[in-house]
Amino acid sequence: MDVIQKLSELSEAMAYEPAEEMGVGQAPACPGFAPLEGSPHGLPSTAACVPSKIAGVPIYQAAMPGGKRIALLKTLQTSACEKDCYYCSFRAGRDFRRTTFSPDELARGFMQMVQAGAVSGLFLSSGVAGGGLRTQDRLIATAEILRLKLGFRGYLHLKIMPGAELAQVERAMALADRVSINLEAPNTERLSRLAPHKTFTEQLLAPLQWVESIRRSRPPSLGWNGRWPSCTTQFVVGGAGESDLELLTTTAYLNRAVHLARAYYSGFSPVADTPLEGLPATNPWREHRLYQASFLLRDYGFDLEEMPFQPEGNLPLEVDPKLAWARVNLAEAPVEINQAERQALLRIPGIGPRTAQTILEARRKGRLRHLSELRRLGMQVERAAPFLLLDGHRPAQQLALW
Ligand code: SF4
Repeated sequence: MDVIQKLSELSEAMAYEPAEEMGVGQAPACPGFAPLEGSPHGLPSTAACVPSKIAGVPIYQAAMPGGKRIALLKTLQTSACEKDCYYCSFRAGRDFRRTTFSPDELARGFMQMVQAGAVSGLFLSSGVAGGGLRTQDRLIATAEILRLKLGFRGYLHLKIMPGAELAQVERAMALADRVSINLEAPNTERLSRLAPHKTFTEQLLAPLQWVESIRRSRPPSLGWNGRWPSCTTQFVVGGAGESDLELLTTTAYLNRAVHLARAYYSGFSPVADTPLEGLPATNPWREHRLYQASFLLRDYGFDLEEMPFQPEGNLPLEVDPKLAWARVNLAEAPVEINQAERQALLRIPGIGPRTAQTILEARRKGRLRHLSELRRLGMQVERAAPFLLLDGHRPAQQLALW
């Protein structure tokens, strides 16, 4: 089989692993589910996540942390795996054709695609074959060939394997723009229901903590481009009976303790011939609400205690968490747009970090008196109007004119 054929086979399976591709975390278009109140961006199609294909290889449009867009190849070093995670299509013993690249073969195949202008970034993960240490060595070897032999200076996201050692994590960090370690579950007990042969604290949480301690203690000049990489994790949502409260408690801890760039929430989807094949797929709106809540925790100054959890610990599906919070806390105490601090502006539905900044800058030039001005500044005025004051007045009358 040639490199492109192998890439095609392996990359098909990577749709299960969200990375930087655009559309991840957006509201799903899911017919059959109740129409949503207060979906922040309407109902954008998840088509943004659907890759294009070049010679049968899926290519993802990915958004980089600075907003730049690139064409990303997501692939595996090998689809062989000796672990038996209950939800995974690659688990040991499952009957399908496994594909493996040598580091040199993968690096050169990827560079052919770069030179052809098909891609400019790589997300590289792997099944575990021969132990976590050996598997990590092969991922690092591929990255070293790309950076040191073939002169690749584009985006590289490297996966850290369960069981990798501290020195390997540091080496991966020196070569990559982003590293990630998938926790899969929010705690030890939940992980045992998904992946009985992974240990939560030693094999998964510890490497995440190492990433942060390396960033704090070692000079960023050791990174390939003079910076240490960002770090992400992923959870499988709905496969272990876990609640949103458990997932977000762990996310909030990681935000604080390891400065996680982002948590990915991947809704469980049953795979034939796995122990969880009979479990129903997770409602995609649950995934979406988790993303919204995680952004409130990371970027909007919300605390976990402020999330509108239901008694069983899940977020309501039918309303976004910021709107639910505002209905309880701002409906009778609206925020004066002309006086509020940035943190207070961020509490208003329809105002994000960029709009809050634009409002602060516009206020220096004069008082804001009309919804039309706020709309021009980027505010979603229909969502925001019930929770704000303009020059001491509720803008309800103005809204009726829209
Ligand atoms: S270690 Fe990774 S590839 Fe292997 S079964 Fe578990 S989730 Fe799948």
